[in-house]
Amino acid sequence: MTPFERALRERIQREGPISVEAYMEACNAYYYATRDPLGAGGDFTTAPEISQMFGELIGAALADCWTRAGSPADAVYAELGPGRGTLANDALRVMRAAGWSGEVHLVEISPILREAQKEVFPDAHWHDAIEDLPERPLLLVANEFLDALPVRQHVDGVERRVVVAAGGLAFDRDGEIVETSPARDEAVAAIAQTLVANGGVALIVDYGHAKSAPGDTLQAVRGHRFAAVLAAPGEQDLTSHVDFEAFARPARDAGASVTSLVSQGEWLNALGIGQRAAALASANPERADELAAAVQRLAGGDQMGDLFKVIAIHSPEWPAPLGFE
Ligand code: SAH
Repeated sequence: MTPFERALRERIQREGPISVEAYMEACNAYYYATRDPLGAGGDFTTAPEISQMFGELIGAALADCWTRAGSPADAVYAELGPGRGTLANDALRVMRAAGWSGEVHLVEISPILREAQKEVFPDAHWHDAIEDLPERPLLLVANEFLDALPVRQHVDGVERRVVVAAGGLAFDRDGEIVETSPARDEAVAAIAQTLVANGGVALIVDYGHAKSAPGDTLQAVRGHRFAAVLAAPGEQDLTSHVDFEAFARPARDAGASVTSLVSQGEWLNALGIGQRAAALASANPERADELAAAVQRLAGGDQMGDLFKVIAIHSPEWPAPLGFE
């Protein structure tokens, strides 16, 4: 048993059963603080790690929005949970080519990932929370950030909890599960509030569903395989599907505009992933197969294209980004 699991069991024995939400929060805080989970040698691979085209198209969408907003010189690039900084690196290349030259602000809790990001962006500014971002127009992106925030589960109206049982950790009840995520609602509200106050746009990409529905979507991934949620706490990535119907509410309540929800496949196709792949392949013919495979993986309906969704929040004074018609 790891020292973290021992401490978690002691906590449960001392305080009594803890909510699924508290369990997820504690495990993920430890998990992200102690490793770089990305890539082949880690636990999971994200879209920007698959291909430069993902970050480039995000950058193109942000740059276009910034240009149509009148190219405000004080607009900053902001990213939530930037991982290794790969998406930012690809996006910023495109944004700088389009004339933007602002600061880079990263919201990241993991000291290990902050170090990795520092290698790519020595001059960036780091923050612990969305509320700490500067009061300036934001060109914000969050890819696979919301899914890592804790989710609350209820069965028959009673909050589901984690107990210490004979064989290890166990849930205190089973049945039809209803999930909510106050932490996500707060994050969306914080993004929307700063966009309304200071201008800007936020592109949010994550996996999840368009309509709220009961169901247990909490999952654990380790070494690129699904694992039991209560096995090896703190040693595996815990996520849950984002309920995009619930997502829009806190953003609209804050007075922000919210686009329609589109699948990642639709969005990447609308932004021109096919043309981008063709341009890269004609400059690098030896990469043609790899590029075609990346397009399929990112946009194919049987891969990430349907499960992952894209939605944008923007200041009512800013134009909506491209790709949400
Ligand atoms: N966006 C990156 C990484 C996704 S993994 C990519 O697409 O590759 C989730 C990221 O969110 C990691 O960088 C993790 O450290 C960060 N993270 C998780 N919970 C967080 C929180 N509560 N506050 C800030 N960052 C968080």
